[in-house]
Amino acid sequence: MTHLDDLPVRDDLRGQVPYGAPQLDVAARLNVNENPFAPSESLVADVAAAVADATRGLNRYPDRDAVALRADLATYLGRESGVALTGDQLWPANGSNEVMHQLMLAFGGPGRTALGFTPTYSMYPEYCRDTFTRYVTIPRDADFRVDPVAAVFAIEAHRPDIVLLASPNNPTGTPLGLDVVRAVLDAAPGMVVVDEAYAEFRRDGTPSSLELLADHPRLVVTRTMSKAFGLAGARLGYLAASPAVVQAVQLVRLPYHLSAVTQAVARTALAHADELQAQVALLRSERDALVAWLRARGHAVPDSDANFVLFGHFEDRHAIWQGLLERGVLIRETGPESYLRVSVGTPEENAAFRAALEEVTA
Ligand code: PMP
Repeated sequence: MTHLDDLPVRDDLRGQVPYGAPQLDVAARLNVNENPFAPSESLVADVAAAVADATRGLNRYPDRDAVALRADLATYLGRESGVALTGDQLWPANGSNEVMHQLMLAFGGPGRTALGFTPTYSMYPEYCRDTFTRYVTIPRDADFRVDPVAAVFAIEAHRPDIVLLASPNNPTGTPLGLDVVRAVLDAAPGMVVVDEAYAEFRRDGTPSSLELLADHPRLVVTRTMSKAFGLAGARLGYLAASPAVVQAVQLVRLPYHLSAVTQAVARTALAHADELQAQVALLRSERDALVAWLRARGHAVPDSDANFVLFGHFEDRHAIWQGLLERGVLIRETGPESYLRVSVGTPEENAAFRAALEEVTA
């Protein structure tokens, strides 16, 4: 048997483990911020028909530029955010993870630097590692917000080629004010990426950085259909930016990276956007109720604009995590030391989480 260590794998990959959270078959899976609602039967039927149609053409490569899907994404974003966009400003890939990877390939690289604000999404260091981009971080403030003065100071010190900002941030749920994004854009010498994977869950009054696109050609906003659309299994993420950014990413994308089946599934789901938005509204109100419930029990809970909630403080968070798992509730041991993160599930799953937490912390 050959072991991984016996292979001439890159030195910087030695001893590393692949990214991932446990995929366990328990009653309440609240650990990877998925949408708990399976597609409706009407969406299932429309997807099946669209896939059948796409299958008839699978002897050919897919539309390399995904033109029809990009136009549909522009229409959707316009409706969701009120910002007018055109298809040449949109670029899709297999999940926003792949979009970010492509951005790092195009704008990062050896001798280049990306700046992040911790705690934040744990894949950012991996994108940097894969693309030989130096990753530097500065901490968020006590409320997990990005302090614009500290951000500008760090940008002036590190001169990053890419600034990575998540809004709402994972794992804290914290949004970014447009004043912070503007301050970062004014100070940054390179690209500014705002990762809006969870944007559709934002509370009333929380803005989207899409609003700044028209005036900022170095701004990129990424989104995904994995969360609000409940399509994590389909793998479809995308960016919105100036057409020149799309052209840059097209230099590094693999040919025909997005299958005809994926394009057909995504377009069909976009046609069902209104029905899916209703579930988003329910998840937002479940999220707000969960935050209030946890706070009423004395937990520290940062404001959340996402479909998950960070809560603490626990001396032994692993014991809490384990106790919940023993009661059929899987959450995530992530973020700052004394905290845990729970995804918002169906009302029944959230009730199961609350009951299990009461038992475990009793
Ligand atoms: N950004 C953030 C902040 C995330 O939490 C996630 C998913 N966990 C992603 C991007 C990637 O999602 P996907 O590749 O499914 O679009």
